[in-house]
Amino acid sequence: MSAGSLVLWNARLIDGRGSTARERCAVTVRGGRIVEVADTRGTEPPAGALDLAGRTLMPGLIDAHVHLSSDVGRSPGFGPPAPLKGEDPRPRELGYFVLANAARELLRAGITTVRDVGSYDDEAIVLREAVRLGLLEGPRILSCARIVSVTSPGGRIFHSMYREADGPWEMRQAVREQIRRGADFVKLMATGARSVAREDPEPAQMTRDELAAIVDEAHRVGLRVAAHAEGLGGTRLAVEEGVDTIEHGLSLHRAPELLERMAERGIVLVPTLTTFHDLAERFSSEFAPALVEQAKRQLEEAYRTLVAARDAGVTLAMGYDSGPPGANAVELVRMAAGGLTPLQAISAATAGSARALGLADVGTVEPGKSADLLVVDGDPLADARVLTDPQRIWLVLKDGRAVSGHALVTERSPWLAGEPEAPPAPPDRDRDPRSPCSAGPFELAAEDSS
Ligand SMILES: [Zn+2]
Repeated sequence: MSAGSLVLWNARLIDGRGSTARERCAVTVRGGRIVEVADTRGTEPPAGALDLAGRTLMPGLIDAHVHLSSDVGRSPGFGPPAPLKGEDPRPRELGYFVLANAARELLRAGITTVRDVGSYDDEAIVLREAVRLGLLEGPRILSCARIVSVTSPGGRIFHSMYREADGPWEMRQAVREQIRRGADFVKLMATGARSVAREDPEPAQMTRDELAAIVDEAHRVGLRVAAHAEGLGGTRLAVEEGVDTIEHGLSLHRAPELLERMAERGIVLVPTLTTFHDLAERFSSEFAPALVEQAKRQLEEAYRTLVAARDAGVTLAMGYDSGPPGANAVELVRMAAGGLTPLQAISAATAGSARALGLADVGTVEPGKSADLLVVDGDPLADARVLTDPQRIWLVLKDGRAVSGHALVTERSPWLAGEPEAPPAPPDRDRDPRSPCSAGPFELAAEDSS
């Protein structure tokens, strides 16, 4: 072993490329990158190697659809307790500590990259910069800055998450503004949103000219485009005008020709199954009854589209679109429950998501890639739910550095002795139930609806 190398020895490797697990692998990491994937030789680990003892080594998970937010209303068990009436108003700046906690929870769950598809007040960009400047450990973050939408009822609900614009030239200006804010890609609303009572998610919300202007403006300067697309009207425009990812896309099972086109052109589908469970089941008491009924229909459609898209050869990505931060792999489990094999669901959450984000550097375990890696205690191919259990996350590497996992407390290895994130506390059910450290395996609500 050469100086400066970390050898992850005796791993059961899931490389993210869709091939099945390979036993007894040794993966060498140097300078933040994977430099070698080889077979384990001999029966004893070489000096200085980290013995994985047959644990599963896989790419760090990538969530292609998150909303990083200091608003924890939809993240039960995460963040500070809700303020009681009569308490002092909380300073706005407390929100940044909530964001920092979110970054830590994501890493603890093995999520090494996220794509934020809309946050309030540019919070995702602030967090991205904090991580980039080394102020805290966190996943790689890609942000769209604000979502480009036509003037719409949703704008009144999502205020600073949206940039409303009308007509092709205003759309171009809106895109340029997001670039100025620091956007890594562009997000547009091709249809209305299922969570807004006065929006019909079925028809296109913007015109073809408006949508085409956004795509042209973004692509001309090398930025990718994500389209919120629920009903077929807007989904069709988005696919035809060449966006790079379809978010939600639940209606696509009704239009096989569009799925075919997506497969041909490499347009990625991010099915976000969990968000439909949220509206239809988990948070149903918080939404207008008509929206809950609509979400029940959409939930059923989303699962049909998942399988239809897979069968059509469309690349799938994992997008949780829910909370709390760190429970993201619940979406992977749902994709598996909904008809993907666990291997396909894992590929979606790694290589598929990397393609959605346009990142060539992450998402698979191959020489030359960034060493964003996850070591899991258990076999996610036998039961994907091990990925949702914080107690099973043994080690998380980002750029070759150990940033989270139980191995940081249990293993004596010089490679884990840097200055990583404080290791997670052991389970202790007597702790404050709101403390993220006490989170148990994340529960899946009502699976029968799939
Ligand atoms: Zn979303």
